[in-house]
Amino acid sequence: YDDRDGKIWMDGALVDWRDAQVHILTHALHYASSVFEGERCYNGKIFKGHEHSLRLIESARLLDMPSPYTAEEIDAAKEAVLKANGFENAYVRAVMWRGSGPEMGVSAKGNPVRMAVAAWEWGAYYGDAKWDGAKLDVATWKRPDPQTIPVAAKAAGLYMICTMSKHAAEKKGCSDALFMDWEGYVAEATGANIFFTKDGEVHTPLADRFLNGITRQTVIGLLRDAGITVHERRIRPEELASFEECWLTGTAAEVTPVAQIGDWAFKIGPIARQISDTYEKLVRA
Ligand code: PMP
Repeated sequence: YDDRDGKIWMDGALVDWRDAQVHILTHALHYASSVFEGERCYNGKIFKGHEHSLRLIESARLLDMPSPYTAEEIDAAKEAVLKANGFENAYVRAVMWRGSGPEMGVSAKGNPVRMAVAAWEWGAYYGDAKWDGAKLDVATWKRPDPQTIPVAAKAAGLYMICTMSKHAAEKKGCSDALFMDWEGYVAEATGANIFFTKDGEVHTPLADRFLNGITRQTVIGLLRDAGITVHERRIRPEELASFEECWLTGTAAEVTPVAQIGDWAFKIGPIARQISDTYEKLVRA
């Protein structure tokens, strides 16, 4: 994990993997002042890399952390990491956080905003038996009200209940957990958005209260291009019984079919298969 070969970009320079360290009084470690991105590089090109750089800057802005880098500089940092490690196909993780500094309390205006980019080779997010379909648990924690936390930010603090819920799901033999939101509507999984089908049309929760994934937006575009109607709307959990297919979308998850959520079962394909194939072609184009 820490002690291995490879290069990581940190605050403007490439450093050895094992030297990419932060101090224990890092503000982010105590107060969750951290935002990040997950991206995938396919055949030497990061899919929507620039959009991810812009989202990182916007997430930081939402946390009152002015980005020290432009999107173009972030794009270049990611390229440098991929090149230094010789990766053509890899997962890319950019992270921006408040470091240690003059203030070690809630206020941290004087503490520098820092950034790092790492990359590693990573296969299928839910394992190799992707077409068996993922099995999801229903999380007991709820996605929070947008008035309580900036839900559009890909911010570390929003993932506390994701790790807790994913651990609880894995204990039950599931590969992920599905969150409802604070009002009880279907929201998202711990690191992916969710889609359903019914009578040849697609239904997905409105992304005004959780991360509107870049993959989610891409897949909605691909579905509409294929002439398939997509409804973005509030979905009640009771409706799960009436849906035919279900799948997750995310940079890491790509398009992953879901076979089961709690007691509800779903069939695998044909729309998930079609859209997964189209997505695969697009990201590698
Ligand atoms: N929701 C959450 C909580 C996530 O962590 C992710 C992964 N970044 C997504 C949705 C999907 O986002 P994207 O398609 O941009 O990867």
